[in-house]
Amino acid sequence: MKVLTEDRNCVGADLAAWTAVGGGGGLERALADPPSIIPAIEASDLRGLGGAGFPTHRKWTAVAAQPPGLGKWVVCNGNEDEPGTFKDRFLLSRTPHQVIEGALVAALAVGAANIVLYVNPREGATVAVLRKAVAQWEAHPLLARLGATIGEALHLVVVTGSGLYIGGEETAAIASIMGGFPFPSLKPPFPAEQGVHGAPTLLNNVETLTYAGQILRHGPAWYRALGLGGAPGAKLFSLSGDVLRPGLHELPMGTSLRTLVFEHGGGMLGDKAFKAVFTGGPSNTLLTAADLDVPMDFDSLRARGSRLGTGAMIVVGEGTSILRKTAEYVAFFANNSCGQCPPCKIGTHQVSRILERIEAGAGRPGDLKALENLTQLLPGSGRCGLVDGAATVLTSSLKTFRAEYERALVG
Ligand code: SF4
Repeated sequence: MKVLTEDRNCVGADLAAWTAVGGGGGLERALADPPSIIPAIEASDLRGLGGAGFPTHRKWTAVAAQPPGLGKWVVCNGNEDEPGTFKDRFLLSRTPHQVIEGALVAALAVGAANIVLYVNPREGATVAVLRKAVAQWEAHPLLARLGATIGEALHLVVVTGSGLYIGGEETAAIASIMGGFPFPSLKPPFPAEQGVHGAPTLLNNVETLTYAGQILRHGPAWYRALGLGGAPGAKLFSLSGDVLRPGLHELPMGTSLRTLVFEHGGGMLGDKAFKAVFTGGPSNTLLTAADLDVPMDFDSLRARGSRLGTGAMIVVGEGTSILRKTAEYVAFFANNSCGQCPPCKIGTHQVSRILERIEAGAGRPGDLKALENLTQLLPGSGRCGLVDGAATVLTSSLKTFRAEYERALVG
């Protein structure tokens, strides 16, 4: 099952080659009937694929409902920087025109003439591919037609962010696009009301927008039918860790973890027994062997107490320390805290220090209790979800693999 990653879609930055295989068809359909765009996205049940899983049509509707003439923006969020996630950089570098088409469809739906492809500056080759792709679109008649339909000249630009993980958060992305440090800010106001330069702004993840273009091209029923067991659509899963074939796998939404790991991933590395998976970030509740047959979709994983997140699946086999991995991920969050909220700034570093010393065999008698206290204190204490992510992975790791911690404490 391949849609976005199908070879003929991945024709690099050559717009002519891409339109020759049907590219641009979604935008053509959208231009033929702009009022039908949001109903089509709603009928498809496309969710935000950057991690939140929020219904895409609701975001689009909120921005479309803002009056015209305010200089609306669409931001294609390609800041992708969390451990284990590598889907957006693939789409941006290998099939940039699919991504841009989705962003243009979104711009038409909400009436935005300013479109930003917001990219991590560390992806230098991707930035070069996108700039070339944008230059080709600027000379293409479809872009002029889109501007004429919206009633304003279109501005399609590539903006490199700060390169910081936190820059992917919506309000931080807006601050970064305006040239500031990517500090997340409190909501409201929501970006749909007040975003880039105070104008209504739609932010969507790269993968979300790319599927949106395909939905306009093939129809919402086609998209829904891609999924399994009632879960709509498809998803890119970034598979890594202790598997034989790590990589990017585009699969039906609702595919089981077992199918992903043992079929598409080729099974466990070195025939290790399956132990757990850090999911979608990794800032969520770990999945274990008991979850191997749970469908991987937003609703099923939420019902299981976890989250699909970005679709990153970092597999851990027997012999790999969950304590060590947890320490690595908490250190990542601590080092990426922007420092605005004291509980996040101080608390994540405190957790990180305790985990490091337990792992090094220098744990103290009160360390487990201190960690448990922090799992109570940290959630909800920050302006953005970073501190919650660190607390969630710690809580889950402590609860499910407590024996590893206790063993490390007694040496
Ligand atoms: Fe910054 Fe952490 Fe506060 Fe988020 S929770 S705004 S990363 S200090």
